[in-house]
Amino acid sequence: MVMRWSYSASRSFRQCQRQWYFKNVVASAIANDLFRKQVYLLSKLQSISAWRGKIVDDVISKTLIPSLNRGVRFTLQDAKNCARGLFDRQLAYGRGHPIDDLGLQVSKEGDDFTVFHAMEYQGELPKHEIQRAWCEVETALVNLFSMDDVKYILKSSDYIVPQRALQFTLMNDVTMLAYPDVIAFRGDAPSAIIDWKVHAFGTHDAWLQLAIYAIALSRCNPHRDFPSGFETQPQELALYEVQLLTSVVRKHSLEKEQIVEAEEYMINSAYEMACLTEGGKYVDLNIEDFQTTIHAETCQRCAFRAICWEKSHVGRDKLLSY
Ligand code: SF4
Repeated sequence: MVMRWSYSASRSFRQCQRQWYFKNVVASAIANDLFRKQVYLLSKLQSISAWRGKIVDDVISKTLIPSLNRGVRFTLQDAKNCARGLFDRQLAYGRGHPIDDLGLQVSKEGDDFTVFHAMEYQGELPKHEIQRAWCEVETALVNLFSMDDVKYILKSSDYIVPQRALQFTLMNDVTMLAYPDVIAFRGDAPSAIIDWKVHAFGTHDAWLQLAIYAIALSRCNPHRDFPSGFETQPQELALYEVQLLTSVVRKHSLEKEQIVEAEEYMINSAYEMACLTEGGKYVDLNIEDFQTTIHAETCQRCAFRAICWEKSHVGRDKLLSY
């Protein structure tokens, strides 16, 4: 079986192998096995803070960037209106929490589809957290529209590609997959990769994630809408980590040693996964071979708690028979 490696999967694997196994091996939207379908739906659970970050990402990638590419004016108020509409629709959908409907087809639910970790494990969405989430969506958008250096990069680009899948063969039977928030092609100037962060503190340095995106862009097969003859090296790219809640922009330049370090990180992580799974599929693998975390807080945040260790979780009795 060809395994997919991504930066987020590597982090999940390091946090808890069992969590990685649920998400990357067990979860299936198309399997007839109802347990696998349930795991798939659980894998879609989002924290309120991840959700509000995704709303910002979606407004940027689905409305702001297409407008920039078409040369159409798009104001802060337009962005806020789009965000508010998405926020309200997804909140209404998420409050319905249809996760026990094993016939649910996520691909047919459209943009409104949202399921919340808090609905699953607390039975409600705390009002103050929802209010704060909206304030932070607004703050992120206001900050974005006032960041002159970021606006300059976007407005001076010939063509901007949001959220595009980049993939290449990392090693035997392992495909590397990356979705940079933004790839900006800028004529003779170095192309840029931007990663939006909607973190309250913004202290995390995203250089490794951006280095991995840069390597992916240099090694993937260019998409048809990339500039003709496009090719690049990781060290040629301009890499920006944009903290939208704190207005901090970090520009990362890659030295040769950092590229080597990022490549080693990818290979070592993929090798660990490959050793554990040995190319096996769901039916070949034993859950007990995947270690559980020793950190209680990782379990608290985990989408799979219901099936992993909350055997007495309300409404999950039917799962226990699988
Ligand atoms: S509940 Fe805890 S041990 Fe189980 S998969 Fe999640 S993080 Fe791992």
